[in-house]
Amino acid sequence: MLMSKYQSTIGMEIHVELKTESKMFCDSKNGLGLEKEPNVNICPVCTGQPGTLPVPNKKAIEFVQMAGLALNCQLRKESKFDRKNYFYPDLPKGYQISQYDQPLCEKGKMEVGGKEIGITRIHLEEDTGKLVHPKGADHTLVDFNRAGVPLMELVTEPDFENGTEARLFCQKLQQICRYLEISEADMEKGHMRCEVNISLHKEGEDRLSGTKVEVKNINSFRFVEKAIDYEIKRQTEVLEKGEKVVQETRGYDSDRDATVSQRVKEEAHDYRYFPEPDIPPLKFTDDQIELLRRRLPELPEAKKKRFAEEYNLSAENIEVIASDKDLAEYFEDVISEVKEKKTCGEVAADEKKCVTLSANYIVSELQKHLVKNNQSIKEIKITPENYAELIGFVADGKINSSAAQIVLEEMYRTGADPEHIISEKNLAQVSDEKELENIVQKVLDANPKSVEDYRAGKTNALQFLMGQVMSATKGKANPGIVTEILKNKLQ
Ligand SMILES: [Zn+2]
Repeated sequence: MLMSKYQSTIGMEIHVELKTESKMFCDSKNGLGLEKEPNVNICPVCTGQPGTLPVPNKKAIEFVQMAGLALNCQLRKESKFDRKNYFYPDLPKGYQISQYDQPLCEKGKMEVGGKEIGITRIHLEEDTGKLVHPKGADHTLVDFNRAGVPLMELVTEPDFENGTEARLFCQKLQQICRYLEISEADMEKGHMRCEVNISLHKEGEDRLSGTKVEVKNINSFRFVEKAIDYEIKRQTEVLEKGEKVVQETRGYDSDRDATVSQRVKEEAHDYRYFPEPDIPPLKFTDDQIELLRRRLPELPEAKKKRFAEEYNLSAENIEVIASDKDLAEYFEDVISEVKEKKTCGEVAADEKKCVTLSANYIVSELQKHLVKNNQSIKEIKITPENYAELIGFVADGKINSSAAQIVLEEMYRTGADPEHIISEKNLAQVSDEKELENIVQKVLDANPKSVEDYRAGKTNALQFLMGQVMSATKGKANPGIVTEILKNKLQ
C-alpha cells in the first residue's frame, strides 16, 4: 500500500441523552423525545415561559459524574451552569443551559485498541426541541417533548487517527453507559449523537495545523467509521490537487456513503456565555465523590478480564457475553447453578466442560433466539436453573447437540424444564453399543457403493454413512460411538 503523505487528526463530540425520570430543570416526564404525540411532556419551565425557574436534576448530575469516574476523569469540586445564547426555533428560551468553563468532569481517558484516547471534558446541558417539516406544507411545526431532556456532552482530545478507532471508542462508551444504567446510548434512536472533527496535515507538520471539517448526522457506529474514512479520502484528494480544504460543516449521507456540505463556516459563533443567574454554583465534597465511586458497578473491561481469568472463555465468547451486562449476569447465574448441580452430584461431566458449554450455547444458540424474537435476556422464560440442567444433559451425553438445539428452542418458547421436553419428545441419545451396531450394519448393507468408496480412499463417504445412521435414529445416535463403530466395521 502506498503511504499517504498526509496524516489525520480527529476529535469527537458525543452527546448522550440520560434516562432520568424527569427532565433536567423541571419535573416534566423525560420521554427522551420519543413520545408518539408531540408536546405532551412539557411545562412552563421547559417551554421557556417568563417567570419560571430552573431546578437542576440531582440524578442527572450524578449520572454525569459516574460517567466521569468510569472514564478516569477528574471531578470538579466546584462547577456551575452557564447560558449559551443563540436563536433557533427549537430552543424556546433563546439560550441553552449548558456548562462553559467549569464542566463537571475533566481530563479523562479511555483505551481503544491499546491506544489511549484523551477525554477533554464531560459536561451537562439540556436538549433542544425538534422541528418537524410536514411534507408539502409551507410551515414548520415544533415539538418540545425533547426540550430540557438531560444531555451529557463528552469532548475528546484530537487523538484519533482513523475511523476504526472512533467507532471502537463510541462502542465502548455505549457499553459503559449501559453498565452504569445512565442511558441506553442507542444511536439509531438518537440517544447518542456523534460529531466528528477531521483535519489533515503533512507528515512532520503541527498536528493541529490543518483546516478542520465537522461532520454531523451520523446515526450508527458503522457510519462513524465510514464517514471518517470517506472524509480522509476526500480531503487527501483536495490537497493533492493543490486546492484548499474549506472549513465547513458536512453531513453524512449513508445512501451515497459520502459526506455532503451543509454549511460553510464564515465566522466563529459568539454564544456570549455567562453564568446562569437562576442556579447557584454547585459544590461537591470528597466524601460525596467517594460515595459515587463506590456505587460504580464492575465495568466492561474489568468484567472481560475477570471472565478470561475465572472461566477461561474464548475471546469471542467473552466479547459477546460481557458486552451486555444482563447477559453476563445470566451467564454467571447459570454457572452458579452448574456448580450447584455438580455438588449435588446431578452432573457427572467436569465443571470446566460445563462452563465452556454454557458459554458456547449462550453465544451460538440463545443469542440466535434472542435476535430472532427481538428480545433481551431479561425477557426470556428459561430460568438459569433449567439452562444449567440442559447443559448438564449435553455434557453427560444424555442428549446430543442436535437434540439440545430442539430442547433449547422448546425451552425458549414455553419455559418448560429440559427433562420434561426430552422425555416428551423422546430425544434421549442412543448410546447403547449393541443397538447402534445393529443399525450401523443395516446402513452398511443398504449402501455397498459408499462402503466401496470409503475403502477406495474417499473419506467423504464416512460423512454420508454417518448421516444415514443419524436419520435411521432420528438424530439421536451418539455421534462419537457411531464413528467408532463405523471405522471399525469399514477397516
Ligand atoms: Zn418541563
